[in-house]
Amino acid sequence: MSGATGGAGRAVDAAELRRALDDAEFFPVFQGVYDATAGILLGVEALARWRGPDGRLVLPDVFIPAAEESGLIGQVSRQIWGPAARAVAARWPGSGALQPWLSINVSPVQVLGTSLVGEVQRLAADAGLVPERLVLELTEGVLVAPESIEVLTALRELGFRVAIDDFGKGWSSLSRLNSLPLDILKVDRDFVVDLGLSRGGNAHAILRAVVALGRAVGAVTVIEGVEQAWQCSDVKRLGGDAVQGYYLGRPGPLQEVSAVVRGAPEEDGSASRRAASARLLRDTAL
Ligand code: C2E
Ligand code: CA
Ligand code: CA
Repeated sequence: MSGATGGAGRAVDAAELRRALDDAEFFPVFQGVYDATAGILLGVEALARWRGPDGRLVLPDVFIPAAEESGLIGQVSRQIWGPAARAVAARWPGSGALQPWLSINVSPVQVLGTSLVGEVQRLAADAGLVPERLVLELTEGVLVAPESIEVLTALRELGFRVAIDDFGKGWSSLSRLNSLPLDILKVDRDFVVDLGLSRGGNAHAILRAVVALGRAVGAVTVIEGVEQAWQCSDVKRLGGDAVQGYYLGRPGPLQEVSAVVRGAPEEDGSASRRAASARLLRDTAL
C-alpha cells in the first residue's frame, strides 16, 4: 500500500505495542481470492495493519514478530479478526456456506494456546458467520507439532476450514500432509516468481506438481503473488484452482474488493460464484 512502512531497521517493543493496543491502532485490510477459471471472488484474506499516531502505516512483517515474542499476538489479532468478520458478514450477509469466505492469519503460538477453538467459535457466532465461511491460515511450521493437529482437527470438525499458508517456502513436511486436516493449500509466491526466470526451466513442471499434490490431499490450491496477466494464464493452464495477488487486487478496504475480475461473466455473478465455490470446497448443505 502506498505510504506503508516496510520497516527496515525499525524495532518495535512491547511497550509501544501495548500503547497501540490501548489506542486501538490495529485494523484489517482485505485482499480477494479468485477462482482461476472464471475470475469470481471466492474469499477475502484479512491482513493486519497498524496506523500509528504519526499517521504512518506499518506493515505486519514489522509488528507481528514483535507481538508474537511479547505474548501480545492474541490481543493484536482481536483488533484484526473481530472487525474483519463483522465487515465480511455485513457486506455478504446470509448464512450460506458458499458466500465469500474470510481468511484470518493465525500465528503458531495461537494454535498451541488453549483458547483458539473457543475464540474462533465466538468470533464466528458474534459476527453471524457460519463456520464454513471462516478459513484459518497457518504456516507449515504447525505441521511439526502433534498438539496443533489435534486443535485443527477439532476446528474442522466444527466446520471451520484450514489453509496451509506459504506452502513450499522453507522446509516442506510433505509426509505430514497426510495427517493434517486441510482444506486449502496456499502456494507460496516464489513459485510464481520462478515461472518468469529463464533459468527456472522446471518451474512449470514444479508448479503443476504442487497443484497435483494439493489435489491429491483433497485441498483447493490458491496460488499467491500473481502480479501479471501472463502469470494468471500460466497458473490456470497448470491447473491451479484459485489466484491471489496484485494483478487481481491489492490489499485495501473491503468495499474495494471486486466481486469479479477480468474475464469473468458479468451477469449472474452469484450463480457463478456458487458454482465455482461448490466445485472447489467441501459441499456443505446449509
Ligand atoms: P501472507 O499471509 O503470506 O500474506 C500475503 C502477503 O503478500 C501480504 O503482505 C500481501 O500484501 C502480499 N501480497 C499480496 N499480493 C501480492 C503480490 O502480488 N505480490 C507481492 N509481492 N506481494 C503480495 P502483508 O500484508 O505485508 O503481510 C505479510 C505477512 O504478515 C502475511 O503474509 C502474514 O504472514 C503476516 N500477517 C498479516 N496479517 C496477519 C495477522 O493478522 N496475524 C498474523 N499472525 N500474521 C499476519
Ligand atoms: Ca496468509
Ligand atoms: Ca502467504
